[in-house]
Amino acid sequence: MSFSASAKAEVCRQKPEKECCELAELAAMLHTAGSISISGGEFMLRLDTENAAVARRAFLLIKNLYGVNARTQMHTNQLKHNHIYSLTIGAPTARMVAMDTHLIGEEGLGLETDMSFLSSRCCKVAFVRGAFLGGGSVTNPEKSYHLEFVSGQKEFASGLLNIIKDLGVSARMTERGRNYVVYLKEGDAIVTLLTMIGAHASILNIENIRVLKSVRNNVNRKVNCETGNLSKTVNASLRQQESIEYIRTHMGLDKLAPGLREVAQARMDNPEASLEELAAMLGAGSRSGVNHKLRKLISIAEHLKSTREGIHAGEGTDHQTP
Ligand SMILES: [Zn+2]
Repeated sequence: MSFSASAKAEVCRQKPEKECCELAELAAMLHTAGSISISGGEFMLRLDTENAAVARRAFLLIKNLYGVNARTQMHTNQLKHNHIYSLTIGAPTARMVAMDTHLIGEEGLGLETDMSFLSSRCCKVAFVRGAFLGGGSVTNPEKSYHLEFVSGQKEFASGLLNIIKDLGVSARMTERGRNYVVYLKEGDAIVTLLTMIGAHASILNIENIRVLKSVRNNVNRKVNCETGNLSKTVNASLRQQESIEYIRTHMGLDKLAPGLREVAQARMDNPEASLEELAAMLGAGSRSGVNHKLRKLISIAEHLKSTREGIHAGEGTDHQTP
């Protein structure tokens, strides 16, 4: 079962609470997964879903609210290798349901103009739950954070977007082909929304993955940081060794002051040691004292190089031009 399907099945295990919420949930389900048809002069309402739990949920809501049993059918889609569960309600209940859920009204659905049936928070949450069950999907958080609601109706999508925002969850809307997609991209927002609609076990799953992800990131950051520091130490040490080597060959380490000579020798003997380690090896010397002496060695080498280059330049012009 996909992450989406198991989240939906989990949401469906929630007991429907109040009648107002049942209607809100059914309304959103019908707006996302429902259709109206008129056959033989009879007004019919139909809901199609790939998810058996969602079909059972819709059946229960219709039964609770209107006291009728919707007709249920299962079709097998040979191409997609899945099942489609269909619920149908005939007249006169169908017309009543369509009016109550704002599937039909003066201007089709008037979600933006008439949100009175969604005034309380409980109903807004139930509406989001219904939209998720009917037209929502959530990507496995191991791959990426993405939760979306797809609807063919712009008014419904923007109404849903406002409701989600009202509930304090950040979401956005975009067009995809003929559809309008309300989507959530942030892990926190997805967790908040799924918690609200009752997908608690799915949240635990997401939270575990989030913990794993952040541990992994922290480890990576730490390794990078350590590698960075290490390469800095190594680069500095290489430069110090080159300078000391230069002094040894062009001047002799014995000409250095005893303190400098001691540090030069310690560095040549311990190329990978950090300043702290060198300081510890030398006994009394502090980190900054060692650093100061190493810089002094570098500047002595620089000075030697510049004077020697001067000499060579002179030699070049005087004697070595062919
Ligand atoms: Zn309510």
